Amino acid sequence: MERVLIKGLTAVVTQDEKRRVLRDADILIEGSKIAAVGRDLPGGADMVIDGRGKVAIPGLVNAHTHIPMTLFRGVADDLDLMTWLQEKIWPMEAHLTAEEVAAGAALGIYEALRTGTTTFADMYFFEDAIAEEAIRLNIRAVLAESYIGFGSPVVRDGWKAFEYAKEFVKRWKGRHELITPSLGPHAPYSVEPDLLGASAEAARELEVPLQIHLAEDRSEVDKVTRDYGKTPVRHVESLGLFEGNRVIAAHVVHPQDGEIQILKERRVLIAHNPISNMKCGAGFAPVPDYLKEGVLVGLGTDGAGSNNCLDMFETMKVAALIHKGYTGDPKVVSAQEVLDMATVLPARALGLNVGSIEPGKLADIVLVATESPWWRPLHSIVSHIVYAARSTDVTHVFVGGKLSIEDGRLVTADPGEIVKRAEEAALRLMEKGGVESFLSGS
Ligand SMILES: [Zn+2]
Repeated sequence: MERVLIKGLTAVVTQDEKRRVLRDADILIEGSKIAAVGRDLPGGADMVIDGRGKVAIPGLVNAHTHIPMTLFRGVADDLDLMTWLQEKIWPMEAHLTAEEVAAGAALGIYEALRTGTTTFADMYFFEDAIAEEAIRLNIRAVLAESYIGFGSPVVRDGWKAFEYAKEFVKRWKGRHELITPSLGPHAPYSVEPDLLGASAEAARELEVPLQIHLAEDRSEVDKVTRDYGKTPVRHVESLGLFEGNRVIAAHVVHPQDGEIQILKERRVLIAHNPISNMKCGAGFAPVPDYLKEGVLVGLGTDGAGSNNCLDMFETMKVAALIHKGYTGDPKVVSAQEVLDMATVLPARALGLNVGSIEPGKLADIVLVATESPWWRPLHSIVSHIVYAARSTDVTHVFVGGKLSIEDGRLVTADPGEIVKRAEEAALRLMEKGGVESFLSGS
């Protein structure tokens, strides 16, 4: 078993039960797991990494994204949701094949790793291609082959797409340690009640997490209430969605009366996407209330179409700031709470043995350089991680004990090749979908 010793770290932000930050510490990795954390650990490792001047944090967990949508970064900004979808995104997505998805996923995974993310939860199409790219580039992923009422670009019928999604789960369950398959009905306004109920039952039977967009904006609340006589959270609850399932509900910006209590009792993980919510004009999720009531909250970027980056450092800072601004109370959503939302909370909710730096945990570890002026004076590590650090400060990323990023460079694949392939794939989709791009000009 390979042993890696990270020696002489300035600090280790353990995110353990006591949220200890260890000073001048080493981390010993054996195989895929953390073997020891502490001062002056014995040598004899196969690889020694110089940790001096660096801080170790648990790898960040992006609780909601659509990773191949990097292909659509910046092609359509500042539009209302329906114009964005109908005139820009759907005409391009209609031409998607596994090849474009793989190209976009590789770019998204490269970006995620480069900015300190070691696990992402994804809802998209052609997820087999995303799983293959995740394994190739070495990142952990919770993947849902998504479907809406009228199907997906893979299968153009909702029920058949659901069958295809279940086959995806069966293909990947227990197949690779980096991949957790999952089910992903798109949202309560786009998937009919029978299909949502069947999805809930299938997730229970297959024992996999279920991901869904929920209560994202006001129009959804109005539509679902009008069509089904219940507000979105109550509607999906009545269909058995939360019954014995691990559910990741993306957004939940607009819970209605009594719904926060339901989310708490059902142990639903809310994937909070502050940047996407603001960019789409969806509003401000009541995160201070969620935290006060003990609802599980994770952080997500959402897809690059609505963010436009997959940068969890940026997301942490924005999450810590917007609720202070919105409520007028600087005491809400502390730096420590935000770091919890990016590490231990989603890890626990997803049932993954990651999210903290402790012996026995999988070695998903990020090293961050502290030389830059914005890191000094080094008064508070957790504060600096959330409020001052930049994602480009990330130097090393381990996933399952293996290096994916070393000295700021991707080491699992050729980054130039990834970018070239993604730009070629994006250009093909723009041309077919009739959407303008800087790339297509001369
Ligand atoms: Zn989304």
